[in-house]
Amino acid sequence: MPKKNEMGLTTKIMIGMGAGLILGILTNLFLADVAFVQKYIVDGFLKVIGSIFVASLKMMVVPLVFVSLVGGVTAMGNVKKLGRIGLKALVLYIATTTIAITIALTLAVVVSPGEGMKLDSKSAAFTAKEAPPLGDVIINMVPSNPVQAMAQGEMLQVIVFALLFGIAITLAGERGKHVLNFFNDLDSVIMKMVDIVMALAPIGVFALIARTFAGQGIDLIKPLMGYFLVVVGAMAIHLTGTLSVLIKVLAGLNPVRFFMKMRSVMLFAFSTASSNATIPVNLKTAEEKLGVDNSVASFTIPLGATINMDGTAIMQGVATVFIANVYAVNLSLSDYLTVIMTATLASIGTAGVPGVGLIMLAMVLGQVGLPVEGIALIIGVDRLLDMMRTAVNVTGDAAVTCVIAKSEGSLKRDVFDSDAEDGVKLNALVK
Ligand code: ASP
Repeated sequence: MPKKNEMGLTTKIMIGMGAGLILGILTNLFLADVAFVQKYIVDGFLKVIGSIFVASLKMMVVPLVFVSLVGGVTAMGNVKKLGRIGLKALVLYIATTTIAITIALTLAVVVSPGEGMKLDSKSAAFTAKEAPPLGDVIINMVPSNPVQAMAQGEMLQVIVFALLFGIAITLAGERGKHVLNFFNDLDSVIMKMVDIVMALAPIGVFALIARTFAGQGIDLIKPLMGYFLVVVGAMAIHLTGTLSVLIKVLAGLNPVRFFMKMRSVMLFAFSTASSNATIPVNLKTAEEKLGVDNSVASFTIPLGATINMDGTAIMQGVATVFIANVYAVNLSLSDYLTVIMTATLASIGTAGVPGVGLIMLAMVLGQVGLPVEGIALIIGVDRLLDMMRTAVNVTGDAAVTCVIAKSEGSLKRDVFDSDAEDGVKLNALVK
């Protein structure tokens, strides 16, 4: 394993991100009207590099999840354990999302962003998309055509098919073993592909961030500062509070070490704004840096990317209060409970891709009778918040994964406690 190279990677990605940020902001400030720059640099070079990077990450998601999960399920050895892990994951994912949105609502009610804000005339511009009904979500978990499920990247369907396939391999005895060997070898090969794409991350992240900030500008945030800061504050509380306590109390692990080891995963999530695209990096980190056994991580990481969205739930909680304030609508206690339930359930049915949080927000607003057009008020800062909340989403997946692994005796403590991390001496840091 090329430890040395990998150790420097996070730093390189951070440098790429910093450079992208500077270039993006400068372009936005000084070169926004220069057609050449917009055409050939922002929508040319940066777009090409960024899109290729995200596509290469996504390219590995379905093969990796399928192959890794088949191996993981087979390694579990029995269906009982599989059911137990699945149940723990479901309970923990729902619980963390519920806590996240409760924090968000509380903070939003206390700070009350948006009160007295004038309605913008462009607020009718948002047309909501339909959110999928829960019944359909459950029915759709079973693929009628696994190839189609893979082709369309339907993660829950791919997970269900992989689980069944893995169970069947175990039941098939000697013959199943041949298939399993093949899958284990294939897993190593795809992990190598992840290595290759990760090595390109510094330039990919640079391009993504530069383009985003070239288009976004900081101006958009100013009128929405209150909303923006409450979302960021709630996410910070969730990370340092909820997830740290989870890591410390339920997994018996050091939260600082956990977050240090999660840095590159968070950076990937931040720059791609997609939990799905981050699955390969999150899975690799869970296994190789956090010490979680493949039998747990291969199941809980992709599942989490699909159903667990703490950061998204936080945005939805704050956005609901914000929009209610702007429209001067009073929300009752039962409205708040409805928001908590709807946002938690909605996150189960929607895949982790950029911007999906807003579609789910339409559903939440509808449930409490708030105008869906209110979304147009916050859309200007959503890209940046999307990036941040995706980082929170994937961190929640990894935290729950560690807790489950610990409870199953599937966490390699020596790997988690290993010292050097991208040039940082973690032992000195966490003492
Ligand atoms: N982009 C988020 C994710 O992939 C979902 C969202 O909040 O829009 O996790």
